[in-house]
Amino acid sequence: MNINWETELYCLIGDPVSKSLSPIIHNELYKILKEKKVYLNFEVKEDKLKDAIKGLKSMNIQGFNVTIPHKISILKYLDGLSKEAKLIGAVNTVKNENGKFIGYNTDGLGFMKSLLDKNIDVENKNVLILGAGGAANGIATTLAMAGVKKLYINNRTISGGEALTKKLKNQFPNIQIEYGSLKLENVFKKEVFMIVNCTPVGMYPFTEAIPIKLEGFSKDLILYDTIYKPYMTQFLKEGKKLGYTTINGLSMLINQGLYSQNIWLNKEEKIFKNYEKIRRILNQYVE
Ligand code: NAP
Repeated sequence: MNINWETELYCLIGDPVSKSLSPIIHNELYKILKEKKVYLNFEVKEDKLKDAIKGLKSMNIQGFNVTIPHKISILKYLDGLSKEAKLIGAVNTVKNENGKFIGYNTDGLGFMKSLLDKNIDVENKNVLILGAGGAANGIATTLAMAGVKKLYINNRTISGGEALTKKLKNQFPNIQIEYGSLKLENVFKKEVFMIVNCTPVGMYPFTEAIPIKLEGFSKDLILYDTIYKPYMTQFLKEGKKLGYTTINGLSMLINQGLYSQNIWLNKEEKIFKNYEKIRRILNQYVE
């Protein structure tokens, strides 16, 4: 990488960020597209967010990503929000638009793109979401925007599922939304089209764990695990044995990054056609 006076800085702020794969996704893309840009991670502690945003603005940084724990707390420091960011209530991408910091959310978009790439259409379908945290919120909101028929929000802590359900019902009164626990007592299993695991259960190093029992579902079920390390979680391994379609979280991760780049560079066709190249490079980090 040839860094000189023309090189622009983009970055990720969060805590922790040391193991994030984002610099690999973005710098590989810059290399392929011959963009004179570099992407770095910056660890920003919770009580330093305001200062960090002030600093980024003073330096006229053109764009940055935001991760845990700042995705919600950053809202109060921004000058505007995209439709998705407003509905989700969280931001993972910021663009400098003529000196104003505008917040976007590409997590749900990345998830939807990974379905589109596999020709999976969720319109009028019933989807079971496991978890009610940030990823569940982004994915459930985007699924609601895409016109699903029914969402089940099943979470370890019932109150978390209840809160997300209430928020979604207010925003999308025409969609049926129910909540329950990971025992799935409220779920009519045969009518579930896809299950999306938005909990960290099964993530490295606790790779033997599985979030729910996979019994009683239809044979055409799609299993989506937002986890990408390991590449095949126990959840997906068991699903595969049962003949289900399985998708891991790597495609969502790459696509949310590519959507961020599209917000910054506005070169959709050039960016997304490099998805496979980036995926091959990332594979070695998640096996
Ligand atoms: P979060 O906001 O902290 O939410 C975590 C959720 O998981 C909560 O609903 C929590 O339930 C549940 N949970 C945590 N530990 C659990 C356990 N031992 N058993 C059952 N449920 C448990 O985190 P997040 O940002 O949503 O991330 C969740 C997962 O999504 C992570 O695995 C992350 O890797 C993945 N993710 C992937 C991508 C991607 O691009 N592929 C992007 C974002 C996130 P309680 O309410 O009961 O605590």
